[in-house]
Amino acid sequence: MTNPLLSDWTTPFELPPFAEISDDDYAPAVDAALEQARANIAGIAENAEGPTFANTIEALELADETLNRVLSVFYGVASADSNEKREALQRDFAPKLSAYSSEVSENKALFARIEAVWEDRDNLDLTDEQQRVLMLTRRGFVRSGAQLEGADAEALRDVKSRLSVLGTEFTQNLLADEREWFMKLEADDLQGLPDFVIATAKAAGEEKEAGGPVVTLSRSLIVPFLQFSERRDLRKTAYEAWVARGANGGKTDNRAIAADTLKLREKRADLLGYDSFADFKLETEMAKTPGAVRDLLMKVWEPAKAAAQADAKMLERMLHQDGWDGPLEPWDWRFYSEKRRKELHDLDEAELKPYLQLDRMIEAAFACANRLFGLEFKEVEGPVYHPDVRLWDVTRKGEHVAVFMGDYFARGSKRSGAWCTTMRDQKRLGGDERPIVLNVCNFAKPEAGKPALLSYDDARTLFHEFGHALHQMLSDVTYESTSGTSVARDFVELPSQLYEHWLEVPEVLAEFATHAETGQPMPEDLLQRMLDATTYDMGFQTVEYVASALVDLGFHDGPAPADPMQKQAEILEEIGMPNAIRMRHATPHFAHVFAGDGYSSGYYSYMWSEVMDADAFEAFEEAGDPFDPGVALKLEETVLSSGGSVDAAELYIAFRGRLPGVEALLKGRGLDKAA
Ligand SMILES: [Zn+2]
Repeated sequence: MTNPLLSDWTTPFELPPFAEISDDDYAPAVDAALEQARANIAGIAENAEGPTFANTIEALELADETLNRVLSVFYGVASADSNEKREALQRDFAPKLSAYSSEVSENKALFARIEAVWEDRDNLDLTDEQQRVLMLTRRGFVRSGAQLEGADAEALRDVKSRLSVLGTEFTQNLLADEREWFMKLEADDLQGLPDFVIATAKAAGEEKEAGGPVVTLSRSLIVPFLQFSERRDLRKTAYEAWVARGANGGKTDNRAIAADTLKLREKRADLLGYDSFADFKLETEMAKTPGAVRDLLMKVWEPAKAAAQADAKMLERMLHQDGWDGPLEPWDWRFYSEKRRKELHDLDEAELKPYLQLDRMIEAAFACANRLFGLEFKEVEGPVYHPDVRLWDVTRKGEHVAVFMGDYFARGSKRSGAWCTTMRDQKRLGGDERPIVLNVCNFAKPEAGKPALLSYDDARTLFHEFGHALHQMLSDVTYESTSGTSVARDFVELPSQLYEHWLEVPEVLAEFATHAETGQPMPEDLLQRMLDATTYDMGFQTVEYVASALVDLGFHDGPAPADPMQKQAEILEEIGMPNAIRMRHATPHFAHVFAGDGYSSGYYSYMWSEVMDADAFEAFEEAGDPFDPGVALKLEETVLSSGGSVDAAELYIAFRGRLPGVEALLKGRGLDKAA
């Protein structure tokens, strides 16, 4: 019998034939696809004809086609609907795939051909997109060490493998510390905790077999505990345990791992010829240099600090009114901030919820895409990997654009969080293909017959992921390696965060936020309170974030510090970190930076994207209409259709006429008045 993953798909829209695919089909399909990919690579490297763009760069684009097709389906399904078998397959595939990718990047004959095409690039009459793909391909090889020989090549291989071991250890130590600690709560210890926190604490207690409710170090429990617990002594105990993760001494202490990691990264950058690890990492980003990142962060830091200091005074007054002496401490901030939030905004989630129905919010996201880009969405039947998944045919002027899959409800087999992925990317090389785009969320599933209701945060998540989906659906490039969201990390959140702004357009909520039972639109006053509450406590949030980003940058843009903890203290001292706020992630538990390479000297990128989304939405405000067709068309023609086929900064300038400033972000966070 043929493997359904490897045969032609005759399903509607050539969707993966999920019903025919069994878990036993994945491993043989991956093996066969890897064998085919290896043969393709050998064919390119050993080609008797001289190297050309077509027989080298384009051939490389197509070499992994089958492998990508199989893996997109597998990882799409394994993330959203896993089981033991699929988890075991993930563990089996990881080393196989990394071995394959090292083989390709270390193939000297292949790199020699790429280098020859690169040297000859000015004589090849390449399109802009082809020049870009050539540059990106070559750069990828160079960055993984293709130009190194002998001892240097060996040293780089050694550094990379030691870094990956350290990253895993860091994560495991952190998990161990988080699992280990809990604090039992007696009846007297529950003062101030709302029912939902008590329920979570009870569930956690059952899991720990503690014989009663407990506080653990899981963010979803400790944060509400710090917000609501009236017991200052318990808040202090819990807080101190929380910020000590990874720094408790003994076998799970991460401080030495952090120091070793930074040294190895410095060595890696040095071997590859960069001034610092930050220079190496930022080369592929929109920011490009450590200086540009620091400049942005400092522009935000000062106004954020001023706002946080003003807030700290108010909160300290509340602390003193409660009969305490002395300064506001970090374990007090969330508690008094929550009290003040209630006084200022009086926003009750329960009052809000009936107005935010999942189905209406999906309609709202579609309606905005219709007004902005002329897209139409028709729900269709077709193969799905789980009965909760819904499918839409996306068209424009009658022409098929994409298939959109929505998988919205939480279940045990789904990993947490929300994300956007594809089961097929848009591209033209080797046959015109339109994408299959998947949004996955973890919203609470309602009882049968009842409408699904969202929190405001949920609704924002829905718009956010849909923004990523638009980036994929509107993609219009030739080469798959630059399709859709294949862009710099500090650029990829622009379309998603930008789309969140349309949820805040009052006319959108007025039309789509209707009461689940009465059908009435949300009252004006409630709508306003909800929108006001979104910028509350931004001084605190911005300070804890920017401090972490500055420490991350400070670790990587010069020589590796011998003692990262001391370096962290120096940086915080230098920027004048407010007393009652700590870094969002301190070094011993800064997983973004030390659990792997992902966000090392890249933690800033969330804010970089926010600067752009705020500034980009202002283009619509300046035009006087959040749906201005001219601005929308320009947005599609530049940012949304180009994927990574053009440098991110160039795309932004093409859209906006200039690079973004921080003013719109400060206004959006309500920090413009504090400076
Ligand atoms: Zn995102």
